[in-house]
Formats: sequence, structure tokens, C-alpha cells
Amino acid sequence: MLKQIIKKGTIKENVLLAQYTTIKIGGPARFFIQTEDEAEMMAVLQFCRQNRLPWFVLGGGSNVVFSDQGFNGVVLKLLSGQYRIVREHTPVEIEFPAGYSSHLASVKMMEAGYSGFESLYGLPGTIGGAIYQNSKWPRGNYQMSDNLKSVVYLDNHFQIQTKTKSELDFSYGFSSFQKQKCLILKATFIFTIKSPDQIQLTCREVMRYRQQSQPIGVLTAGCIFKNLEQGSAGYYIDKAGLKSKNINDLVVSSKHANFFVNQSQARAQDYLKLVALVKSEVKRQFNIDLKEEVLFVQ
Ligand SMILES: Cc1cc2nc3c(=O)[nH]c(=O)nc-3n(C[C@H](O)[C@H](O)[C@H](O)COP(=O)(O)OP(=O)(O)OC[C@H]3O[C@@H](n4cnc5c(N)ncnc54)[C@H](O)[C@@H]3O)c2cc1C
Repeated sequence: MLKQIIKKGTIKENVLLAQYTTIKIGGPARFFIQTEDEAEMMAVLQFCRQNRLPWFVLGGGSNVVFSDQGFNGVVLKLLSGQYRIVREHTPVEIEFPAGYSSHLASVKMMEAGYSGFESLYGLPGTIGGAIYQNSKWPRGNYQMSDNLKSVVYLDNHFQIQTKTKSELDFSYGFSSFQKQKCLILKATFIFTIKSPDQIQLTCREVMRYRQQSQPIGVLTAGCIFKNLEQGSAGYYIDKAGLKSKNINDLVVSSKHANFFVNQSQARAQDYLKLVALVKSEVKRQFNIDLKEEVLFVQ
């Protein structure tokens, strides 16, 4: 029945989720659907509701860890369509499908001479995931919502909604989409016109800082914990002496203590144990409660 819905995308059973996350952890999804077709996405979620099947929307998998048992339902991975120029003159408005790669969007905007996505240069994942997490960049205090104009999404009653930024809530690492089960379909952003060379300089600066401060080219899920008012989570994890601490194949990065690196065969149970260990040690030493930024899905 579910298979009959999928005509443009693909549907497979028992697909290992590890391969669709950047940290490469996670067991199988009962159903794994990939599509860029909005009507198909909506039909899948309606099917799930009618058949009481749990569902989960996956973007680039760069901020999630799946359990070793996997997901006993439908994982819907959004693929990318094309972006669309809504308004060509200042302020330029461009609509991106939720499955569009954040880094590719940054590159395309740079090439076109549209300034606004420089901070997404080198950011893993998709536009939809970045809106959901309100992804941020420390230099210049950029947040994904900064140049957002509006979002089109499917709400928890399966109605298509279009909301402007002012009708939604965004704060550090938070969007109102985290409060309700929904599917972000597309979003429009505002850009200014600059020379591609000028934009490229900022993108290079962003990448240089990434390379200096983050473990690149290894298996991670980004920052595990949210930063705190008192300072960065990585600072306290480092101060607690936890850099290079490991549970089996999962290790606290020696470069940035808020990243866990899967050295090869790490499992979700290692992840949960390392999260618990780091939280209890930071609590014991500094009386600080760390909160996860990465979503654990089971
Ligand atoms: C090396 C590395 C560096 C990183 N650097 C940064 C950084 O500088 N700043 C930062 O903020 N983050 C960073 N991250 C974390 C991550 O890349 C971002 O948060 C990213 O924007 C998440 O997008 P994603 O598509 O991978 O989301 P996923 O991991 O696929 O999903 C994250 C959450 O968003 C939800 N979601 C995804 N798409 C949709 C949709 N269309 N509709 C509804 N919900 C959706 C998922 O259900 C899940 O709850 C980094 C990660 C890595 C691995």
C-alpha cells in the first residue's frame, strides 16, 4: 500500500540508518523513503497517520543519532529540488526546497552574487534541518532565521501552512517547529546583491574558522550539547578533563570537546553512555546541566 504511493521517489525496507547520518550510527528503518515530491511527502504522512505508523523526517542526518534498534516506522528523507528566484531585485527573495543542501545553497548564492548565506558555507545538512534547528554560526552571531522571510510547511493536522518569520518563534538553537510534529516543505530567504568575489572572501573566512575550530573529515554529529549563558558547552567539557575520553569507539574530540567522534564502529549505546558520563561529570565539577542539541531518535 505504502509502495503504491511512491511513484517519483524510492521506498525500501530495512535500510540501515547509520549510512544516512554523518556520525554513522543507527540500526534499520522499517521503511525508508526518499523523495523530493511534495505531494508524495504529504501522501506518506497521511498514510502513516491512517495506519498509526510512526514517522520521522530526515534531512542531511548531521544532527541526529538513531538507536541501534533503528526506527520501527517510516523515515522520510527529503531530496533536493531546485531553488527558485521569487524576486530578482533588492531585496532579492529566493525559495529553497527543504531538502536542498545548505552548503550548496551557499555556493550557488555566492556564484550568483547574492549575499546572505555565507555562514552556511561548509555547513552539513539541508535547509529544512537548518530551519528546524535554527542552525547558527558564532562569527557574526548568524542564525538561520536571520534572513528568513517565510516557511511553507505541513502542520500536525496535515494542513499546508505559510508563515512569515514574525509568525514563528526562533531563538538560539530553537524554532517553533520543534514544538509540533511537522514537515517543512520550502522556505523563502532575503538576500542583498554583492560581488561574488566579496561574498567568496567571507565564505573562505567561514571555512577557515571551521577548519581551525571543528573536527572536519571525521564522523561526528556536530555539537552534542547546547551552549550555555555561562559559556560554551565545549569549554566546560574541556575544563572537566574530558577531551579524548572514550566509550568504546566513540571519543570526545581533542579538537573541540563538544564534538564526539565515531572512530569506526561506535554504536548508539556508546553514544548514550558518553552523553551521560559527560553530563554527570560537568554537573559534578561545575553544577551545570548540559542539554543535548543532537536529537536521539528511537
Ligand atoms: C561537522 C559538522 C559541523 C556542524 N557545524 C554546525 C554549525 O556550525 N552550526 C550549527 O548550528 N550546526 C552545525 N552542525 C549541525 C548540523 O549540521 C546542523 O544543525 C544542520 O543544519 C542540520 O541539518 P540536517 O538537514 O542535517 O538535519 P537532520 O540532522 O537531518 O535533522 C535534524 C532535525 O531536524 C528535523 N528536520 C530536518 N528536516 C526537516 C524538515 N524538512 N521538516 C521538519 N523537520 C526537519 C529532523 O526531524 C531532526 O529533528 C554541524 C554538524 C557537523 C556534522
